[in-house]
Amino acid sequence: MPEYKAPLREIKFVMDELLDMPSHYANIPAYADVATPDMVDAILAEGARFCEQELAPLNRVGDIEGCQRHEDGTVTTPTGFKEAYAKFVEGGWPSLAHDEEFGGQGLPESLGIVISELVGSSNWSWGMYPGLSHGAMNTIEQHGTDAHKATYLTRLVSGEWTGTMCLTEPHCGSDLGILKAKAEPNPDGSYAITGTKIFISAGDHDMADNIIHIVLARLPGAPAGTKGISLFIVPKVLPNEDGTLGDKNAVECGSLEHKMGIHGNSTCVMNFDGAQGWLIGPENKGLNCMFTFMNTARIGTALQGSSAMEASYQGALAYAKERLAMRSLTGAKAPEKAADPIIVHPDVRRMLLTQKALNEASRALVYFASQQNDIVKKAETEAERKSAEELLSFLTPIAKAFLTEAGCEATNLGMQVYGGHGYIAEWGMEQLVRDTRIATIYEGTTGIQALDLLGRKVLMTQGASLRTFTKIVHKFCKAESGNKALSKLIKPLMEVNKEWGDLTMKVGMGAMKNRDEVGAAAVDYLMYSGYIVLGYFWARMAKVAQDKLAAGTSEEAFYKAKLTTANFYFRRILPRTRMHAATMTAGAASLMDMAEEDFSFL
Ligand SMILES: Cc1cc2nc3c(=O)[nH]c(=O)nc-3n(C[C@H](O)[C@H](O)[C@H](O)COP(=O)(O)OP(=O)(O)OC[C@H]3O[C@@H](n4cnc5c(N)ncnc54)[C@H](O)[C@@H]3O)c2cc1C
Repeated sequence: MPEYKAPLREIKFVMDELLDMPSHYANIPAYADVATPDMVDAILAEGARFCEQELAPLNRVGDIEGCQRHEDGTVTTPTGFKEAYAKFVEGGWPSLAHDEEFGGQGLPESLGIVISELVGSSNWSWGMYPGLSHGAMNTIEQHGTDAHKATYLTRLVSGEWTGTMCLTEPHCGSDLGILKAKAEPNPDGSYAITGTKIFISAGDHDMADNIIHIVLARLPGAPAGTKGISLFIVPKVLPNEDGTLGDKNAVECGSLEHKMGIHGNSTCVMNFDGAQGWLIGPENKGLNCMFTFMNTARIGTALQGSSAMEASYQGALAYAKERLAMRSLTGAKAPEKAADPIIVHPDVRRMLLTQKALNEASRALVYFASQQNDIVKKAETEAERKSAEELLSFLTPIAKAFLTEAGCEATNLGMQVYGGHGYIAEWGMEQLVRDTRIATIYEGTTGIQALDLLGRKVLMTQGASLRTFTKIVHKFCKAESGNKALSKLIKPLMEVNKEWGDLTMKVGMGAMKNRDEVGAAAVDYLMYSGYIVLGYFWARMAKVAQDKLAAGTSEEAFYKAKLTTANFYFRRILPRTRMHAATMTAGAASLMDMAEEDFSFL
């Protein structure tokens, strides 16, 4: 099993040197007094300790044991999960980035995301329990009444209770417009919720006394499609007036899914049998309500790709330095040993550097997105909030889909570095592959994110949304256009940044004649965009490193490695945009010409 070590130096590089989080926090009055540099450092150090010592050792236990459902519908989590959660609550971690008004510590979401990275790299399955609560908390905070907040939000924030998101039904996941769960009014103003929800993460477990389900359902006579969906709070145990636990509600876990990975997290079929629930937000506006916090939830899933890359890279790097096989093509590098360590071989380096380059830039993207989220939530002026929201909205589908796809690639490479041992369970590398695979599926598949990016965000705004980002890239490239030492990065970045707009126009023109052109181009467009976004962050990281080296530093090796990795990215990863540029403009006909009945002739 790779031993996880929190990458605090890398984290601080992105937070302080790339994104200047200290000034960012100081400039937002809500954070200026709480997110001080000392406080941030203390939180990171303690978070790192907790994740390395408490969560990482449970990662394999969770995979082997999985969850157990009992006859009464209750679920037991793997050994140690419950105890670790109790310590997590005791440490105040669930309340870190929530408003003080509801018992939170009022710290920024961008600091919360760093802790989530540590949790995710050390034990993603465990992290999903508090992670799902986050979605429920955001929903109640934004759309709940004062009474909802007093009863539910404060207990979710403290971690005393956890939450779930109940959207998916057996016949629908991507297309929630066809969901069937019903909500019928009760005389007391509450609703009776009936229906089956499937694949509900953390749907039942033994880590908290109560579980608050956020459920999508239809009111009687609601319009068909997405315009007829409402949102409800449905607790597992009904709270009494004073918030103490009362009777069990009519909702329970009917079964647990047997699945490829994330075995430590319970994936439940949830049966709602006239369960008592309360409307949250306006009638028939349930999906709109959910969309208001989707950006945060999707950045949280993007983090799964990113945090898995870190864990896999740590394992692969350690192995590549120790495992001996054959001699370097340029002559023995460790003649005293029976063979050279495999890290001398170019192909092993290709795998390691691909992991490293994707990993470090993905962290930059996630933290940057989350920095925008801080501004959306707490900046003083409407103008600042609005422009951060536009940028975040554009970057969200890219972060979610690209980083989870890249996470799958990186964990696969990590497994490959181990050769046959990578395929054997005890090393933990195949678990990372299995655990990460779901990230491209839930919270909107890659295909759905790509349609959101190209269709809804870019084409429907006539490219305005794309320009929010290309302008930023252009400004950076222009400022660095005379930087000779970085010209091999700046020039290609400038070129693809321009081409991005041209290709968008081309796809958009095609779409005016045939709507299928959007669907046919979407995933290639998204991947193409992802490579440019990471390219931008690599160019910026290279600039930071260049400045530090020029100024003189005791960490020369650290900054030189940044320049070497940036160079690798531009020479060996950014060129993937060539392939995506070709395939995104290959036209829908090559996909749609095949008649449905001709797909197979068995
Ligand atoms: C382990 C696990 C945990 C989960 N946790 C939760 C949870 O906590 N809460 C919850 O509500 N749900 C959860 N889900 C459900 C998950 O969000 C859905 O599985 C996902 O959104 C996809 O929906 P689906 O399975 O119905 O696939 P479908 O919607 O049937 O899609 C099947 C395929 O068709 C593609 N497709 C569909 N429509 C289009 C289109 N218009 N254009 C192009 N391609 C399209 C999709 O991309 C996909 O490849 C979880 C799922 C799993 C496996």
